[in-house]
Amino acid sequence: MNGKVHGYGGKMTLGERLYLGEIFRGLGITIRHVIRNLLHTGDLPTVQYPEERRAYSERFRGRHRLMKREDGTPRCVACMMCSTACPADCIHIVAEEHPDPAIEKAPASFEIDLLRCVYCGLCEEACPCDAIRMDTGIYDLAADSREKFWVDKDFLLNNTTDGTR
Ligand code: SF4
Ligand code: SF4
Repeated sequence: MNGKVHGYGGKMTLGERLYLGEIFRGLGITIRHVIRNLLHTGDLPTVQYPEERRAYSERFRGRHRLMKREDGTPRCVACMMCSTACPADCIHIVAEEHPDPAIEKAPASFEIDLLRCVYCGLCEEACPCDAIRMDTGIYDLAADSREKFWVDKDFLLNNTTDGTR
């Protein structure tokens, strides 16, 4: 090998041992990038989140919502198809009789543990009534305790946008 090797046991010159040349070269690259970014902020690959947000595809799966009938009651018939399909086992439904004899059941409670959810969308695919959707576009979930990510029927029927219950 003809090249000079500065590895273990190799001899470095005084200039190389001071690392000054490399330090200034690194600084030069950094300053060049800072100036270029300041002059061309529109070309930056990053956005000023949360003030600035990227547009998401219509197919993006955000936080769930439960759909309502015309009278405001849940469209869900508590068939458990979604909770059976859920690979994360994070949907918990308790069924009750529906007051309308034409509808067999309704959810007495319907809860989702958002921290266990993997946003696969299998629940909305499994639903025979189009009663659960993930089209809210809400993806920024933040809270100060785990319990606040356990969302209930009221929350899902009146989905809020603050990221918590
Ligand atoms: S999106 Fe997937 S993991 Fe989340 S609740 Fe639905 S089925 Fe379960
Ligand atoms: S949301 Fe749909 S799949 Fe889930 S229990 Fe209700 S009706 Fe069944």
